[in-house]
Amino acid sequence: MDTNPEQGSLLDAAQQAELTSDPAARIEALRREIEHHTYLYYALDAPTISDAAFDSLMRELRALEQAHPELIDPSSPTQRVGGSVSDQFTAVRHEVRMYSLDNAMNLEELDGWMERIAEEFGTLPPLDCELKIDGSSIALTYENGLLVRAATRGDGTTGEDVTANVRTIADVPLRLRTEALSGLTHPEGTIELRGEVYMPRRSFEKLNLAAEANGKAPFANPRNAAAGSLRQKDPLITKGRDLSTFIYAVADERALKTTTQWGLLEWLREAGFHVNPDVRLCTTAQEVREFCEEALAHRADLPYEIDGVVVKVNEFALQTQAGFTSRAPRWAIAFKFPPEEKTTLLRDITVQVGRTGVLTPVAELAPVSVAGSTVARATLHNLDEVHRKDVRIGDTVIVRKAGDVIPEVLGPIAELRPADALPWQMPTHCPSCGSRVVQEEGEVAVRCISIDCPAQSLERLLHWASRGALDIDGMGEEIVGRLVETGRMSDVADYYSLDEEELALLDMGRVSKDGSPIRLGKTMAAKLIAAINESRQRPFARVLFGLGIRHVGKTTAEAIVSVFPSVEQLVAADEAALVAVDGVGPKVARGIHEFFRTPDNVQVIERLRAAGVCLADTTASAAEGPQPLAGLTFVLTGSLTESGMTRDEAGDALKALGAKVSGSVSKKTSYVVAGEAAGSKLTKAESLGVPVLSERDLLTLLQTGELPAEQ
Ligand code: AMP
Repeated sequence: MDTNPEQGSLLDAAQQAELTSDPAARIEALRREIEHHTYLYYALDAPTISDAAFDSLMRELRALEQAHPELIDPSSPTQRVGGSVSDQFTAVRHEVRMYSLDNAMNLEELDGWMERIAEEFGTLPPLDCELKIDGSSIALTYENGLLVRAATRGDGTTGEDVTANVRTIADVPLRLRTEALSGLTHPEGTIELRGEVYMPRRSFEKLNLAAEANGKAPFANPRNAAAGSLRQKDPLITKGRDLSTFIYAVADERALKTTTQWGLLEWLREAGFHVNPDVRLCTTAQEVREFCEEALAHRADLPYEIDGVVVKVNEFALQTQAGFTSRAPRWAIAFKFPPEEKTTLLRDITVQVGRTGVLTPVAELAPVSVAGSTVARATLHNLDEVHRKDVRIGDTVIVRKAGDVIPEVLGPIAELRPADALPWQMPTHCPSCGSRVVQEEGEVAVRCISIDCPAQSLERLLHWASRGALDIDGMGEEIVGRLVETGRMSDVADYYSLDEEELALLDMGRVSKDGSPIRLGKTMAAKLIAAINESRQRPFARVLFGLGIRHVGKTTAEAIVSVFPSVEQLVAADEAALVAVDGVGPKVARGIHEFFRTPDNVQVIERLRAAGVCLADTTASAAEGPQPLAGLTFVLTGSLTESGMTRDEAGDALKALGAKVSGSVSKKTSYVVAGEAAGSKLTKAESLGVPVLSERDLLTLLQTGELPAEQ
């Protein structure tokens, strides 16, 4: 970077000297100067002064503003962090809906769309091609040239006000550059610009390294990290996350004098926004295909994630003519990239023992970056799968991310196999407890059936403490692992015999600098005991789920409790009675029946009873309250960003009103609730004609018990 602080300056020395005597003028000049350099740096990627010189301008401005607080203005570059920090993000209704995009999953589908467009207009109109940035959508409102609001997409109709956080993003102009005002039809009016907030790959990697070092869960990908960072309660945290934006749309194009998408991008650049430089105006289908292929080839070289290419009809007038479907514009299409694939070395195949004793082979890979995150392990599911794919230790394997989230080993590159690589075999003994493993007839799974297996104990204990079960906050892998290793815990009833002093002294298996053992400590111990005590109040259905009976998930546990509301009734039930419960098949019924007939389990149940854990549905079926939704079945999909509820919490609230909540969409589904980034369930609902509710509709429904009028 250039180190001459004066180069590129808008002011000469004489002007500067004169302005110091007039603080208001000097402040304004400094603001313009800083904005100008921010624009050169972020929007044009062509800085003309050094970071040090830039900081010096900022320091002078800050000092002057401190001396003259009456001159502080919210659009000053010093004011990026500030404003009120609310506990809750307020809802923002989008006056112009924030649409999603229709997808083309391959070049043939893209051609199909272009043919339809060409047919509609008699000839293929010019098409603007842009990279599809994998981030979180944002809407920025400017009034009289000043940034007054930033909102997330939410469900497209209503988003969240994240202004204080977005102001901290350095490339978002707090005011539009005056040079661009002449491009507006009403310079004093309101204009809403839209684009994507994203997290550059490097910042994402840094953030996850820091999370790991602090024992926190890493973000799955930069998209989630960007969305999560936008929704921080403290803008200073957002500021530290190093977010960026690419802006590419206007809510209502009548606000601008230009009549094309291409002109809009030019105007956005002029106004100071960060606009992606990788854009192309194409006039033939062949050019569009080439752009897509080039983007795919260069995808990995970009410093940020993209998941496709967006192709847009360039002329606004033609866009208006093409119009919208209920979900997306008909004048644009997203060409989606296939899931990213990489090759890497399969260093080893290890075996993990789950809570029901199933042995799962796991691929230990030389770490490789795939679709935005580092992959070092991937499940191989079972022995059949290892043999079907014929992967061997030492192989070079192809790895991809299914749904761009879960890593998957596709198979080996046979030509690169070392000569001595042997087919992999399942161990004959449990890697955790050393007892012989068994494979039951007709089952693919190999399992350890020892009741004293520490690996199974650990998984069972963690499952009991997990959020959907007894929700014992703080009981994670490290602490429970230590309690198992030290022989203090082996079954779930042991949670209730832990005492605070004993926990405080728990040796964490690490030593401090002076060589003394690190102990859990009083504060953490008190927190854990409080969480354990609270868990005694959890409803019986969660206890049943928490017991980890084979095939009994959360929904099945609830269905069972609605028919057998106490553990006594459940113990007394035979397999035939259990099969009669909705959602319970013969396998599940056998699992439950066997569970309650195993002496060790009966003992655990008795100890849980003595500890005061809830073993009967005390709500006497939630049927006491009004049940306006009785007889209706709901499916929840996407994330509920507006209310901050998890899907589980929303499901519980619906059930309290008498509704059933199911995990999959069928003709019997009454309503699908679609949150942000809803996926295949929404598509299925649309194809079956199942009515779809937005998160807003859901909130109204929960508050009033009323469904929206027929849509
Ligand atoms: P999807 O969420 O897969 O339906 O894709 C639609 C989203 O892609 C939009 O809501 C935008 O947030 C995002 N997107 C990313 N880059 C672009 C772009 N260049 N033009 C339009 N939308 C984009």
